[in-house]
Amino acid sequence: MSFTLAIVGRPNVGKSTLFNRLVGKRLALVDDQPGVTRDLREGDAKLFDLRFTVIDTAGLEEVTDDSLQGRMRRLTERAVEMADICLFLIDGRVGVTPSDEVFADILRKKNAHVILGVNKAEGRAGDGGAIEAWSLGLGEPVRMSAEHGEGLDDLYHMLRPLAEGYAERAAADAPVVDVDVPEDEADLEADPDAHKPSLKHPLQIAVIGRPNAGKSTLINKIIREDRLLTGPEAGITRDAISVRADWLGTPIRIFDTAGMRKKARISDKLEKLSVADGLRAVRFAEVVVVLLDVEIPFEQQDLRIADFAETEGRAVVIAVNKWDLEDEKQEKLAELKEMFDRLLPQLRGAPLVTVSAKTGRGLDRLHAAILKAHDVWNRRITTARLNTWLGAMVEAHPPPAPGGRRIKLRYMTQVKTRPPGFVVMCSHPDDMPDSYRRYLVNGLRDHFDMPGTPIRLTLRGQG
Ligand code: GDP
Ligand code: GDP
Repeated sequence: MSFTLAIVGRPNVGKSTLFNRLVGKRLALVDDQPGVTRDLREGDAKLFDLRFTVIDTAGLEEVTDDSLQGRMRRLTERAVEMADICLFLIDGRVGVTPSDEVFADILRKKNAHVILGVNKAEGRAGDGGAIEAWSLGLGEPVRMSAEHGEGLDDLYHMLRPLAEGYAERAAADAPVVDVDVPEDEADLEADPDAHKPSLKHPLQIAVIGRPNAGKSTLINKIIREDRLLTGPEAGITRDAISVRADWLGTPIRIFDTAGMRKKARISDKLEKLSVADGLRAVRFAEVVVVLLDVEIPFEQQDLRIADFAETEGRAVVIAVNKWDLEDEKQEKLAELKEMFDRLLPQLRGAPLVTVSAKTGRGLDRLHAAILKAHDVWNRRITTARLNTWLGAMVEAHPPPAPGGRRIKLRYMTQVKTRPPGFVVMCSHPDDMPDSYRRYLVNGLRDHFDMPGTPIRLTLRGQG
């Protein structure tokens, strides 16, 4: 599995520092001072078990004349063309600058696969920058410190599914998503406030599903509803990856599945979204709408992408489309619910909404379900409430005592949101059976009414 990662961004954000860390040899100069003119540099990078080629676009700080913008642009464009994935770095201490926006623009126009890195974020230094970074519309920012080596585990978790997507696409050109991402335990260590969005940040939605499920029809309907309210074309901006709109009063950005497919047709590619595009849609989104065709629901491909959305920690809403074609609505609904519980137990509690993208029926309920899922995804529960609940759970059903050693649950706290993550301090965490962990997760979901969001629960020993 090999791919190429380009590190891009304005001068001085820490590109060379990261390059050096990934390559592990001091190949590149790191200097605040004007110096030798450099061009693109390549190195063999290693990040845990990933091996890849890294391209560094540093070395422009010494160009101070008017040609800087142009040169920066050309160099970045070249790097983007050479790379499979771009790591776009900004300086978390400085926040988003107009120059960063220029880079974000280039990346969007080039339709690059972007991971947004907020560097120099050691300690709490990058908090402000990480919040601002959402405004670039490039998905969830990864906080890191190239200098101190922090956040590289998060970078790894972002890169790995994309890397596998590339490997598969290269191998078979088969539009099937089949990835195995490790449980994101490292994420739980993260600062709980790290990824808080700004209030103005539009809700990011992706509609995924098999070809012909009705994704384009649904997206167009959502955009048209907006148009009716706001007048022709008003308030809608469409860029390479997403469409911005105001849907029933909610500012949204919706991943432009239709636009991507049109592009794919032009370039004589598959009609279907490729693996990497599917992954990208999930990565882009805060809420993933898994759109099923009522006539062929829960196909293998739907199950895989829904599972991927769960693994990636996205809020999920299941929408069953073409409901207008269904005569036996009651029976069908019961059948769908049974299939859902059986085939996607990991998404237990996710809302299932029936819609007709064609007629627009049910879209108000879909809208409500998306808002609710997003809200739950962001929810924070106080430690006091959690521990009262935990006490009652333990009383109702005490943890087992494998080998005669009773597992004691001491206390719990929420360590992150988006999605919600909890840590339970206990004795002998390794002995805890999965069934008890499920009891706790399901209990949390029911008691605190958290449908449609993955819940992360980590057990940790004390002392
Ligand atoms: P480039 O121009 O984007 O390649 O940036 P450099 O890698 O040359 O870094 C610019 C400056 O930022 C240097 O002084 C680095 O030591 C510093 N720097 C890079 N990464 C970090 C970091 O994670 N934290 C802090 N505090 N400084 C950093
Ligand atoms: P995509 O491949 O997922 O983007 O699917 P499209 O939006 O292109 O839709 C595929 C086909 O299903 C088209 O012929 C649509 O007209 C049809 N379609 C989409 N939504 C509905 C619906 O709600 N009801 C019915 N009856 N047909 C639909």
